[in-house]
Amino acid sequence: MPGECWTVEEVESLIAQVVCEKKSLPQLCIPGKGEAAINNQRRRLKEAGRLEGAFAGRTLKPWTICELNTLRNYAGEHGFSAAFISQLQLVEGRSKDSISGMMHRHGLGNEAARMRSKCARRLSDGQRKELISFLQGEGRQTPSLEVAKRWGLSQKTVNGYRRRLGIFLSWQEARSSEDYRQRRDRLALEFARQTRARWRQWRLRTKRELQELRDEMERSSCPTERRPCLVCHEQWFATRDFYHVQRRRGKGVSMSRTCRLCRSEQRRAKARRVA
Ligand SMILES: [Zn+2]
Repeated sequence: MPGECWTVEEVESLIAQVVCEKKSLPQLCIPGKGEAAINNQRRRLKEAGRLEGAFAGRTLKPWTICELNTLRNYAGEHGFSAAFISQLQLVEGRSKDSISGMMHRHGLGNEAARMRSKCARRLSDGQRKELISFLQGEGRQTPSLEVAKRWGLSQKTVNGYRRRLGIFLSWQEARSSEDYRQRRDRLALEFARQTRARWRQWRLRTKRELQELRDEMERSSCPTERRPCLVCHEQWFATRDFYHVQRRRGKGVSMSRTCRLCRSEQRRAKARRVA
């Protein structure tokens, strides 16, 4: 029956299967319990520290709106791939798989490219051994493209194998991967330049708007509290238009000490330091 309590025997049996027998989820068996129930119980036991570290599980860090917006920008507007985004760490701390999954769920990115990577062939252990011995032996001089076709892999994958095996690429191949790297670096630089330019425009426009708003508020009859920015010392007003306001759970509302313009500058500088 679903939701029925676990008996001590059932719990002990599950612990034994996970800790002693090192079984994975599909192999775990508790009569009368479904896979979801077993999975949940295993998670509870892990959290209670009863699995002695035998099962690490995954702790999911939920995506923030900020991260999602960043991803939207890179994947949607700029058309970057998940691999590219994760490689440059454009969404800090997110793996390629995590980024790719998020892009899929939000309809971002290139569907064709996604399918291609999904269909990429995974080699069995036997096939992998065969490929490695081929690359080390008779296939040493075979161009990667040809090897790739024969094994149904991408050229990049074959190059990766060669690199890991310490087999140097022919000069043509070395050049083509060097070209690729340079193209990628150029693209990243160009992207950074564009973002900088867009940000400068935003800053100019926003500053003008804030100054106009301040003039208007100065003329108005109902007075608002002044709040100078700690960084630029502009005498703005203490409102959301000029200062970022944060709502913290249990701590009420706090208003930034630096104006929107300076705050944005600080955040950009921080992002650059991280990157
Ligand atoms: Zn300021």
